[in-house]
Amino acid sequence: MEINLNITKFEDWIKPTVDNVLISGPCSAESEEQMLSTAHEIVKAFPNNIFRAGIWKPRTRPNAFEGVGSIGLEWMKTVKEETGMRTATEVANAKHVEECLKAGIDVLWIGARTTVNPFSVQEIADALRGVDIPVLVKNPVNPDLQLWIGALERLNQAGITKIGAIHRGCSSTTKSKYRNAPNWNMAIELMRLIPNLPVICDPSHIGGKRDLIEPLSQKAMDLEMRGLMVETHINPAVALSDAAQQLTPEALIAMIHRLELRSLHAKAAPAEKQLVMLRKQIDKADEKLLKLLAERKDIIEKIGEFKRDNNLTVLQLNRWDEVLKNRLKLAEELNLNPVFVEKFLVAMHEESIAIQVKILNSVPDSQIASVSR
Ligand code: PEP
Ligand code: MN
Repeated sequence: MEINLNITKFEDWIKPTVDNVLISGPCSAESEEQMLSTAHEIVKAFPNNIFRAGIWKPRTRPNAFEGVGSIGLEWMKTVKEETGMRTATEVANAKHVEECLKAGIDVLWIGARTTVNPFSVQEIADALRGVDIPVLVKNPVNPDLQLWIGALERLNQAGITKIGAIHRGCSSTTKSKYRNAPNWNMAIELMRLIPNLPVICDPSHIGGKRDLIEPLSQKAMDLEMRGLMVETHINPAVALSDAAQQLTPEALIAMIHRLELRSLHAKAAPAEKQLVMLRKQIDKADEKLLKLLAERKDIIEKIGEFKRDNNLTVLQLNRWDEVLKNRLKLAEELNLNPVFVEKFLVAMHEESIAIQVKILNSVPDSQIASVSR
C-alpha cells in the first residue's frame, strides 16, 4: 500500500546536539530536585538536549510506581525555565495531550505499548488536531512495521507534520541479552519506505542494562539513525523505574563524546570522490553477479528439461549435499562468511528446484508436436 506522509524537515524543528538529536533525562519524573539536578548536569554539556521525563508510566504490573502525574509537568516547566532545554514526555491518551499542551511541553512521544493500539493512537491524533507540535512514535512492542507506519499516518492525517520515529526494540519469547531485542531490519525498512522520516534510537529500552547502551548507540549511529533517546538519572541506583538502564549525566556525556558519528557525506571532497568510485565498482560487480545468475538459470532450465524427458526426480539429495559441501569449502578459501554463503546457496537451490518443478509439469515440445499432428 502506498505511504503518503507530509513531513516537516527534521532540521526545521530539531536543534542537533553534536550533529544528531539527543533526548535525555530520567525514565520518570520523581521529584523536582531529581529533575533539576539531572537537567543542570546535562545542559552543561548539551544545551540543545531535549529533556525527557515520563510523567505517566505504563508499567507491566499494577502497584509499581506509575509516575507522579500532573505535578511532574510543573517540574518540567521549572527545568525549561532554569536550563532553557526543551522538554519531552510520553502521552497515552487525550487527557495527557491536553495537560502537556497546557504545560508547554515541547515534544511528545507515543510509547511502545500505545503504538500497538490504533484506538489510542487515533484518540491522541484527534486531540492534537490543529496543533503542530513534534510527535515521536516508538515502535510497537511487537515487530509490526505496518502498525508503526499506521500510527505515523494517523498523526499525519490529523495535521501533525513534525513527526519522527523511535526504535526501542521489541519484546520476544526467546531469551536474549537485551530487554527488548533490537530489530534493526524493521527500522531500516521504515527508513527505506519513508526516506524523509527521522528515525532515532532508544538504546536504554533496547538494552535494559547500562553496559549495553554504548554499543547500541554506536550501532544506531552506524546505521545513520538521526539521534538517540537515552535515559539519564542523577542517581540511577535509587531510580523508581528502570534503574538498571539509566546512566548518570557524567556517564552520558562521556559516552556521547566517545561515539563515532559518521556523517552521510564524507567531509573532504577527495574522500567523497573515492566513495563514488568504489560505488561504481560495486555496481559493476553486482551487474556481473546478476548476469551470472541469468546464465545459471539457463543451465538449470536445460537440466530441468533433461530430468523431465528422462523421468528423473527433481531433487537429488546426494547431489545437493555434494554441491553444498564443495561450495562451502570454496567459500572458506575465498574468505567469505560461511553463514552468509550457506543462506545464499540455499536460496539459489530453492529457486532452482522451483524452476525445475515448473518445467516438469510442462508439456515437452515433442509431445506438443505429436498432439498437433
Ligand atoms: C519510556 O521511554 O520510558 C518508555 C516507557 O518506553 P517504551 O514505551 O519504549 O517502553
Ligand atoms: Mn524507562
